[in-house]
Amino acid sequence: MDYDIVIVGGGFAGLATAITASRNNVNCLVVEKEKELGYPVHTSGGSWYNEMIELGLNKSLLHPINSIAFHSPSGEVVSANFKDKDPPYGCIIDGRRTIQFLAMNAAKEGAQILPNTKALSPIFENGEIIGVNIKSSTSGTKKVYSKIVVDASGSISLITRQLGLKEGKWQRYGIGAEYEAYVPLPDENHVDFILGEKYAPAGYAWVFPTGKNRARIGVGIIRPDSRKNPFDYLEVVMHNHPNVTKYLKNAVPVEYHHGIFPCEGPLPKTVLNRFISVGDAAGQGSPLVGEGIRYALQFGYAAGEIAANAIMNDDTSEDYLMQFEVKWKKEVETDFKIALEIQKRLANYSDEDWERKISMLKALDFEKLVVFLNKLKGTF
Ligand SMILES: Cc1cc2nc3c(=O)[nH]c(=O)nc-3n(C[C@H](O)[C@H](O)[C@H](O)COP(=O)(O)OP(=O)(O)OC[C@H]3O[C@@H](n4cnc5c(N)ncnc54)[C@H](O)[C@@H]3O)c2cc1C
Repeated sequence: MDYDIVIVGGGFAGLATAITASRNNVNCLVVEKEKELGYPVHTSGGSWYNEMIELGLNKSLLHPINSIAFHSPSGEVVSANFKDKDPPYGCIIDGRRTIQFLAMNAAKEGAQILPNTKALSPIFENGEIIGVNIKSSTSGTKKVYSKIVVDASGSISLITRQLGLKEGKWQRYGIGAEYEAYVPLPDENHVDFILGEKYAPAGYAWVFPTGKNRARIGVGIIRPDSRKNPFDYLEVVMHNHPNVTKYLKNAVPVEYHHGIFPCEGPLPKTVLNRFISVGDAAGQGSPLVGEGIRYALQFGYAAGEIAANAIMNDDTSEDYLMQFEVKWKKEVETDFKIALEIQKRLANYSDEDWERKISMLKALDFEKLVVFLNKLKGTF
């Protein structure tokens, strides 16, 4: 099997890479270990509406959000409403349908996709990567050769680690547990963030509506700051919170999602001869709130375009592919550094700290603050 580009992972970053690479007339293959692209779900899908439209998503994949509240451990609330804002600031992405939508677009552009196919290891020649060993339950083990390999395998960083660009596992990461549940909410365009050690030690909990009496109720905890299991706190949020329990107590879970999100900042080196690492595989998400979809799409599109140009110019060297690294560093490196510093401080807040911060925010014009945070997207 010979391709111009082999992409490991059919998530947001891998499919975005496949779309722009194929559009630029190079033949590429995406290998995805799961039987169904987009499933199991391991994202909550919170994002920014306009940015998702600009990144090519269809409105039908986005549930609009126009109101937000932060809850202190004792139940103090600071909130902001943007009922008149059209289009809305925020949205909850339908992760599974979005991945399927991206996969269809990649296929339309000419990409090949192999679900149920696991990438195992790089194939080397003269110390350089020239392809990937793959395995599927239907066709066994095979070798796929390519001019460029793109690692978009998510937080496992499979090929990136085997090529020595990431040493060992991520040391600092968010671990999340989430129910998608039947739950009639009073406002289906409103999100809640719940703070405090009782509900999410070294992290936060959330309620993200997805419409039609469905919502995602989740807890994310930062390792190594806390070793607690986020699953244990889901029940506490649903049944013992002074505010959100009012409507969550009768929630009926229909799906359970979990996953990890690297949040120690992006890897400094993401390209080698014939190789690019992108998305969570390269730690390219905002460490503060664990927002990674936008960056996986943005840098996936960039990786596909640069890889295709490299092939057309017959130059797949590290020097040529460095354009990718220069681009993402220019756009987010400083923001992510600041975000990481803020995240490290917030992860160590006590319940008393959160009470003080929420009362401080109440004294400010919180709506103006949210508008400001919207402008500082890299750090929020
Ligand atoms: C609990 C949780 C909640 C989150 N909530 C949000 C949120 O609200 N908003 C937001 O913007 N971000 C959120 N994120 C982060 C976001 O989900 C990620 O940043 C995003 O999914 C990264 O996309 P990716 O394509 O790089 O990786 P992934 O989406 O992880 O895709 C990687 C793909 O590679 C496949 N793969 C892995 N290993 C192999 C292999 N050996 N062979 C073949 N295929 C392989 C995987 O099956 C997967 O399909 C959340 C993350 C978690 C864990």
